[in-house]
Amino acid sequence: MSAMLAETRSDAPQAVVEAPRRERKRVVIIGGGFAGIAAAHALRHADAEVVLIDRRNHHIFQPLLYQVATAVLSPAEIAAPIRQLEAKQRNVSVLLAEVTGVDVAARTIEASSPGAGVRKIAFDYLVVATGMRPSYFGHDEFAQHAPGLKSLNDAETIRAKILGAFELAAITEDEEERARLMTFVLVGAGPTGVELAASLAQMVRVTLRGNFRHIDPAKSNIILLDAGSRVLATFAESLSGRVTRRLTKLGVKVMTGVKVETVDEQGVVAGGSRIPSATVLWTAGVAASPIPKMLGAKTDRAGRALVGPALNVVDAPGVFVVGDAASVMQNGHPVPGVAQGAIQGGRYVGRLIAKELKGRKVKRPFRYFDKGNMAVVGKNYAVLERRWLRTSGFLTWLVWAFVHVLSLPQLQNRLRVQRQWIWSYFTGQRSSRLIPEPPRVDGSGSNR
Ligand SMILES: Cc1cc2nc3c(=O)[nH]c(=O)nc-3n(C[C@H](O)[C@H](O)[C@H](O)COP(=O)(O)OP(=O)(O)OC[C@H]3O[C@@H](n4cnc5c(N)ncnc54)[C@H](O)[C@@H]3O)c2cc1C
Repeated sequence: MSAMLAETRSDAPQAVVEAPRRERKRVVIIGGGFAGIAAAHALRHADAEVVLIDRRNHHIFQPLLYQVATAVLSPAEIAAPIRQLEAKQRNVSVLLAEVTGVDVAARTIEASSPGAGVRKIAFDYLVVATGMRPSYFGHDEFAQHAPGLKSLNDAETIRAKILGAFELAAITEDEEERARLMTFVLVGAGPTGVELAASLAQMVRVTLRGNFRHIDPAKSNIILLDAGSRVLATFAESLSGRVTRRLTKLGVKVMTGVKVETVDEQGVVAGGSRIPSATVLWTAGVAASPIPKMLGAKTDRAGRALVGPALNVVDAPGVFVVGDAASVMQNGHPVPGVAQGAIQGGRYVGRLIAKELKGRKVKRPFRYFDKGNMAVVGKNYAVLERRWLRTSGFLTWLVWAFVHVLSLPQLQNRLRVQRQWIWSYFTGQRSSRLIPEPPRVDGSGSNR
C-alpha cells in the first residue's frame, strides 16, 4: 500500500487529517467491475495516482456466472484477481475495502477494510463504478429463501442448492416432498433467468442421467416465472417467441403475466397459487448500491445516478458515475445495463480525466455504441439482436461462445473455459458438481 493511502488510517471513523501535499492528482475509482477496470486502464499513461478500491479481491465475468451456478465452470475460471493490475500498471494501487461513505464537499471517501479499520482517502477525481445488486422489490425477506445471482458466492450457493435438492430427493420416502425437492422455480425471465433455466434443464436431462438409482432427475419441474407478458422483455418480440419455444422444448415451463406474492421455505405463491419448491432462484430485479445516493446526485427508482452528458455528477466537479450504477439516456432510450455499456462508460471517463490532467477540455459527450445483445438458451442455441439484425440458432451460439471466450479476463481462463466447454459439449458432463457442505434436511429451503 502506498504511503499516501495510509494518510488517515484508524480503527474507527475519525475526522479527516489534512492530506499531505501530493505531487500528483489522485483519481479514486470505486469498483473493480467492467467499468472500474476500464476506467483504470484508460488512465494508464496519465500523470496521476490511481487508487482502485473494491470490497472483493477479484473481478468477475458476470455473463458466465450462470455456468458456475449450474456446475459447468468453477468459480476461478470466470474471475481474475484485481490486484494483478498493480503489477501491470505502475500508477495504480489496489485497495481491498468497502467504501462506506463519500463526502463530496470535503473530497474524501471512507473505506473500511476487514480487520484494518476505516480510512479516509482524499481524491481529486472520483469515479463511482459500484454496479447493481439484486432487488426483491421491497420484500427483502425473500432473499433468505431465493438467492440472487451476482457474486461467486451466490453462484456456489445456487449450485449447492440444486445438487443438494437431488441428494435429498433420492433419500426421501415422501412422494410430495420428493416432488417439492425436484421443483425449481426461477423468478424473472430476463437473460439471467432464461440462461439459468435452460442450463438447468440440460443438466437434469443429460449430466445427471443415470446418476441416481431411485429418482429420475429428468422428471424435474423447472418453472420460469415473470410478471411481464413475455420472456426477454428487452429483446424484440419475435426473439422472445423463439426463446419461449426453445425453453419449452428443453422442458422448462414458462409462466408469464404471473406475479410472485410470497417466497418462503415451502416454495412460492404466484398468481394466487402455491408452487411447492425447495429451490427458488431470484433472477428478477436489480438496484444500485447506496454509493450513488451519497454523491448528492439525483437518482432513478432503482437508485442509479442521473448523470450529465459526460457521465458527470452535476454540481460536483470531478465526480463521475459509470457502468450499471449510472442512468444514461441516449436518443430517448436508456443505455442498457450490460458489460459493453460499462466498459465504454469507464473508458470514456478514464480518457476524459487523462485529458483534463493534461490541461485539455473534453467537449464530446458520452455516446454508447451498441454492439448487440445476446442470450444463450442451452446447448447449440443463442439469440442476438443488434439494431435491425435479429438472429438465433446454432451459428449465433457459436458467435456467442467465441465472443465470451475472448472476453474472459486472463489467458489461462480462456484456455480452461474453452477446454471445459468442448468436454461438456461432447460428453454432457459437468465437472464442477461439488456441494461444499452437506445439504440440510430441515426443509428450510436452504441447502447450505
Ligand atoms: C448473472 C448476470 C449475467 C449477466 N450477463 C450479461 C451478459 O450476458 N452480457 C452483458 O453484456 N452483460 C451481462 N450482465 C450485466 C453486466 O455484467 C453488467 O452490466 C456489468 O457487470 C456492469 O459493470 P459495472 O462495472 O458497472 O458493475 P459490476 O461489474 O457489477 O462491478 C461493480 C464492482 O463494484 C464493487 N463494489 C460495489 N459496491 C462497493 C463498495 N461500496 N465498496 C467497494 N466496492 C464496491 C463490487 O464488488 C464489484 O466488483 C450480467 C449480469 C449478471 C449479474
